[in-house]
Amino acid sequence: MGGVVNMIWTWQMVQPASFNKETKETTPGKLEKKQIPVPQLQPGEVLVEVAGCGVCHTDLGYFYDGVPTVSKPPLTLGHEISGIVVAGDQAWIGKEVIVPAVMPCRKCILCKTGRGNRCLDQKMPGNSLASYGGFSSHIPVPAVDLCEVKNRGNIPLSHLAVVADAATTPYQAAKRADLQPGDNVVVIGITGGVGQYMGQMAKALGAKTVVGIARNQEKLNRALKFGADVVINSTDKDAGAISKEFRGICKERGLPATGWKLFEVSGSKPGQEIALGLLSFTGKLIVVGFTMAKTEYSIGRLMAFDAEIIGTWGCLPEYYPIVLDMVLSKKINIEEFVEVRPMSSIAETFAGAHKSPPMKRIVLTPDF
Ligand SMILES: [Zn+2]
Ligand SMILES: [Zn+2]
Repeated sequence: MGGVVNMIWTWQMVQPASFNKETKETTPGKLEKKQIPVPQLQPGEVLVEVAGCGVCHTDLGYFYDGVPTVSKPPLTLGHEISGIVVAGDQAWIGKEVIVPAVMPCRKCILCKTGRGNRCLDQKMPGNSLASYGGFSSHIPVPAVDLCEVKNRGNIPLSHLAVVADAATTPYQAAKRADLQPGDNVVVIGITGGVGQYMGQMAKALGAKTVVGIARNQEKLNRALKFGADVVINSTDKDAGAISKEFRGICKERGLPATGWKLFEVSGSKPGQEIALGLLSFTGKLIVVGFTMAKTEYSIGRLMAFDAEIIGTWGCLPEYYPIVLDMVLSKKINIEEFVEVRPMSSIAETFAGAHKSPPMKRIVLTPDF
């Protein structure tokens, strides 16, 4: 924190990757190191010096898969941010904070009725917060949404970046599911960046049973140490085969066949098919992962099952301190799931993570 900050160093996405359907040519995306001025901070705004910013599947979607950003390039990606306040509102200066991935407007009907996580006027760093994102030295943000970090013990501030998205989305999903102690839960895609926290979150909130489903055996084994009671490897199995295996587990463990809460976190068609196959009497399916793919289902079954399918998006900033507490009290482990790299490795890190999902969430730390 050496004096007044005049400039922000940042890795801007000047151009996302694009695919030309006619020529079948892929133009690779471009990241460029830039210096931009610190904007005039508005009342209620602060400047955060970034400690770390997590690389999320969503960033890769923007960069590689043609998912459009609200602010058009050039913009800086990155929405999983922790840091320290260095300018703006005096009351915040010097405080360590987590910047929520989704910051509601607090004025609209959704915000006023407790649904601010899906506010249509929300701001998301690395997408709709002007051109600002977390893969930078600093970022200007509204102070009202910040989650203050206190007593973080030996957990580095950079690691806590994952609380901004990967660890909080599952909390909102659990709320949507009305998850109660004693509930039986399935997490489809339990090995993913968000999925592994979904398993841990369900357990931390008192789930009796957590069944994890995914394909990577090494990561499934890890899930057994962090939240999952039993896992199913779905490699080369269709939804029918998974349902059969699941029923076998229920029988073996004396678990009911009804009332399961299913979290689909894989954001894939096969994952959705597995989830729909498992949805049964009085069950709930919570859709946490996103895919453009269309999945077929006889909606009439919901009537027969007295069941529900529910979507969930982001997490209310109000819930962040609760999740941070769970992380700091080690009810939720992040240390086993975080890898820190210098921000200058952003291009290789994106390419590597795009090619195959990493074992751990990669958090980039500024080294401009
Ligand atoms: Zn994300
Ligand atoms: Zn709003």
